[in-house]
Amino acid sequence: MPNALNLTGIALTVEQGRWKRLARSVAQNSLAPNAAEVDRDAIFPREGLKAIADAGLMALTIPKEQGGPGEGILTTAMVLEELAQGCASTAMVYCMHMSTLAMIAALAKDGQHEAFIKPIVEGKWIGALAMSEPGSGNRLWHMDSFAQRNANGYLIDSFKSFCTSCGQADFYVVPVRADSTQPPTELSLFIIEGKDPNILPIGKWDGMGLRGNCSMPIHFKGCHVPEIGRLGPPTCGFSMLFAYSLPIYQVGLSTVYLGIAEAAYRAAVDHVKKRVHSDTKQTLSQVETVQRYIAEMKMRVDEARCMVYRVAQMSDNAMVLFNELQSADLLDEVIRANPDDPFFIELAQLKFAVSEIAVEVANKAFQVCGGTAYKRGHPVERLVRDARAGSVMAPSDDSLKLIVGRQILGIAQPWE
Ligand SMILES: Cc1cc2nc3c(=O)[nH]c(=O)nc-3n(C[C@H](O)[C@H](O)[C@H](O)COP(=O)(O)OP(=O)(O)OC[C@H]3O[C@@H](n4cnc5c(N)ncnc54)[C@H](O)[C@@H]3O)c2cc1C
Repeated sequence: MPNALNLTGIALTVEQGRWKRLARSVAQNSLAPNAAEVDRDAIFPREGLKAIADAGLMALTIPKEQGGPGEGILTTAMVLEELAQGCASTAMVYCMHMSTLAMIAALAKDGQHEAFIKPIVEGKWIGALAMSEPGSGNRLWHMDSFAQRNANGYLIDSFKSFCTSCGQADFYVVPVRADSTQPPTELSLFIIEGKDPNILPIGKWDGMGLRGNCSMPIHFKGCHVPEIGRLGPPTCGFSMLFAYSLPIYQVGLSTVYLGIAEAAYRAAVDHVKKRVHSDTKQTLSQVETVQRYIAEMKMRVDEARCMVYRVAQMSDNAMVLFNELQSADLLDEVIRANPDDPFFIELAQLKFAVSEIAVEVANKAFQVCGGTAYKRGHPVERLVRDARAGSVMAPSDDSLKLIVGRQILGIAQPWE
């Protein structure tokens, strides 16, 4: 197998190399062997997640002073790329978990370290990010549901239309309007523990792809959240999501789709080297059309990886900048004053560029594997379905393209 891994121009640190190899071993030994079953029976991948936790990957970006390894978004991307090649469903669960960590680590105060960060560092907790609402769908900057302050904390009644790890997570980060009088972008962030009996998963997840991640709707039906469950200041949730969650979320999603593309490409190379036609007595790899498909796939996978790693590095730089701002109010001011920050535009571009590449590469892999890949249960058949989630996951590729277009043309964004 040609090594397709080295066009990024990025030299790994000793630690990054170690995390990457560890993730590869988890993917190969614990995720890949179960991926077909997880997909077929839509099983939440507990076993794979335990292997990820045992490898110490669940707290990867928790800073050292809070007990974690203190790695960044680039390292997370390297890890996710490996995991997604083993099982995309499991990688998506991990991606959503990771999308909560930077925010919690940056905003945690007083007892929140003990209550929330400790179990994450101990590998006991899997988190979920419940953002999408039935009203606004993929337009994540708009939340209809709101928190109600009461004597003991907050009452949250919020219906979320999709939530990976629904009914399985140990904690949910839930953004809602700060209160009923606030506009839909004036958000508060809450952590609701999975053991709350008022969390109601709705139905069963029976997705076309990414079938093992329980992404059904969820109703936080009058959940009582004590003061300790509010993350950050009352009305800075929008900026906190932008600063601390969006970078890892967009890079993470893109990396899952990069891993899907890579797995499809590798499966195709493997298939065409083995498949022999009886009339020509040659493998498919001798067919020029097939050679062309393989070259096109490799080019697109390498292109996606370069983009992912580059934006991941930019994100790590941005995190340093955001962390230096010291206060959530100052960060809020910086984010709101810079709606056209090129960093956020690069993040938007990354997600739609890579999700399009994943669909293209999976389709080409499908083409060269022929009818064999059309059969239920073939890895490429699964990867074609998995890849398709990329463009509709929020913000959808169509919304992101409008955001980028507006920025170029100097038109206000919908949340401004
Ligand atoms: C496998 C999977 C896992 C998920 N996990 C999570 C999760 O963990 N947490 C979470 O919060 N959400 C999650 N989601 C939800 C996801 O992020 C989106 O919010 C959801 O897919 C939007 O679906 P919708 O039907 O509401 O889309 P709609 O918002 O109704 O949009 C449908 C389509 O209309 C078009 N469109 C809509 N608005 C615009 C616009 N402004 N500009 C241009 N075109 C537009 C687009 O083509 C879009 O695809 C998940 C979804 C999937 C499929």
